[in-house]
Amino acid sequence: MTNLDLTSEICVIGSGAGGGLAAGYLAEAGHEVLLLEEGVQVKASQMTQREEQMLPLLYRDGGKQFSADGGVAVLQGRALGGSTVVNMADVVPVPGGVLAHWAQVYGVDRFTPQQWAKAAGIAAQAIGANRIQSHELNRNAQLLLEGGRALGIAGDVFEHNRVGCVGSGYCLIGCAYDAKKSTALTWIPRGVATGNLRVKTGARVSRLPHKNGRVRAVEGQLLEGHKVVGRFRVKADRIILAAGAIHSPLILQASLLGGPVVGKNLSLQPQAPVSARFPETVRMFRGIPQAAYLHGRETCTPEQGLGGFRIESVSATPGMAAVNGVGWGPELLEVFRDYTHMGAALCLVPDAPMGQVRRKGFRPVIDYPFSPSWLERLREAMDTCARVFLASGAEQVYLPVVGFPVVESTTDLEALKNWPLAPASLSLISSHPQGTCRMGVDPQTSVVDLGFGLHGVDNLQILDASVFPSTASSHTMLPVMQAALLGLGAV
Ligand SMILES: Cc1cc2nc3c(=O)[nH]c(=O)nc-3n(C[C@H](O)[C@H](O)[C@H](O)COP(=O)(O)OP(=O)(O)OC[C@H]3O[C@@H](n4cnc5c(N)ncnc54)[C@H](O)[C@@H]3O)c2cc1C
Ligand code: SF4
Repeated sequence: MTNLDLTSEICVIGSGAGGGLAAGYLAEAGHEVLLLEEGVQVKASQMTQREEQMLPLLYRDGGKQFSADGGVAVLQGRALGGSTVVNMADVVPVPGGVLAHWAQVYGVDRFTPQQWAKAAGIAAQAIGANRIQSHELNRNAQLLLEGGRALGIAGDVFEHNRVGCVGSGYCLIGCAYDAKKSTALTWIPRGVATGNLRVKTGARVSRLPHKNGRVRAVEGQLLEGHKVVGRFRVKADRIILAAGAIHSPLILQASLLGGPVVGKNLSLQPQAPVSARFPETVRMFRGIPQAAYLHGRETCTPEQGLGGFRIESVSATPGMAAVNGVGWGPELLEVFRDYTHMGAALCLVPDAPMGQVRRKGFRPVIDYPFSPSWLERLREAMDTCARVFLASGAEQVYLPVVGFPVVESTTDLEALKNWPLAPASLSLISSHPQGTCRMGVDPQTSVVDLGFGLHGVDNLQILDASVFPSTASSHTMLPVMQAALLGLGAV
């Protein structure tokens, strides 16, 4: 067993949207930074485009991290670059209405809309954000927009952080072309190039020993794959925790830090995949996998924050599609026999903070109850999505609801009105967990203060998706980067 003792001015834990940015930014600002990441670095040449190889290498639990009742697959990256390596690269900032909601309901009013906008600009430029061009839309995206137009539902294309994309369609299992500009290709190399940033992968932080309101060290295990091969201890003046919304609260809980609500107020923003079989060839698995969306039913108010739902074109690699609700048993076989004719979309239904993360050893237990009002919005979203696909020519539509018959006409959707929706009967995905170290002024109801500092501790900031008081946006990469830049005082 190796025992490693390290020192650094600043220690950053986690290398995703928040941690990768913080490490690069601080190194460029002249600070000595050590970045600790549990996962490994996977270079483009190692991205084999094979699910059985890439899922275990790039994802938390190989992509099989679920909520405790099995109702939601909680997807997270676990590699240098974190979830930005496996994400769909859509670039969506925090909407103004959400900022008003945070100020009105949670007292998070320190930042101006102008500051958030400036942070969005800096982050977007760093990751090469640009608008997807209409000739880049695959047939799946076109069909969604066509169906939306037929029903009078407004749609648009995303901005994304792909540069030089060849449209292979493999985004979810890592880009073999270095086209997706994750933090592993942007902020982290920028920091390394200064000579101020050291990166240690295979370093899983387990505890933050502390005394008199200061974190004294960062302790954890050295890993080879999932095997523990040693231990480390880092002494640093300043700690930035950015292990994501599931693991940042876990590390705090293990360290007896974070106060009474650490791990609570979890938003999963679950998404429901709806698929459809078309008479024409669609080949949704080629081209940019998530390029267009219908936002006609989204809402955002200062009282409620994000609400309603949006529908996004999507394609998954076959294994992920099979696990996440394209169908069951003989129906699933049918879907795969005709996979080139299949299209799909995600119903993205923002939630209120409802869940929590608890610790069982080193592992999180994710409790996530569904509220009746959220389930009703999900029902409406799936109904709308099915109608959109039927309007764009689908012959069959498959809902991610166990036992619900294949939909062949709008009449078949009548049954959805009273169909019981419960966690065990749904197949849902979360790619945007957030809120478990919520920002606020009161240590009894929040974990970090308005400067992103842990209440009562003077040398620990949290800069990741866990700090949002409620769902930040329909997508969380850019919002996390915006927040991190605010936390670092960059704007
Ligand atoms: C499949 C998928 C698709 C997505 N699509 C989009 C999209 O199109 N657009 C968008 O805006 N957002 C998308 N997201 C969400 C977005 O990528 C995340 O919200 C964002 O990356 C979160 O940033 P973070 O810093 O909080 O955490 P992460 O980026 O998840 O990074 C956390 C890092 O911390 C590491 N870590 C965890 N525990 C420890 C520990 N104990 N010790 C050391 N390291 C640790 C993890 O391995 C990980 O690398 C998607 C996410 C996924 C998973
Ligand atoms: S679609 Fe583009 S960004 Fe995604 S994996 Fe292929 S080349 Fe990379």
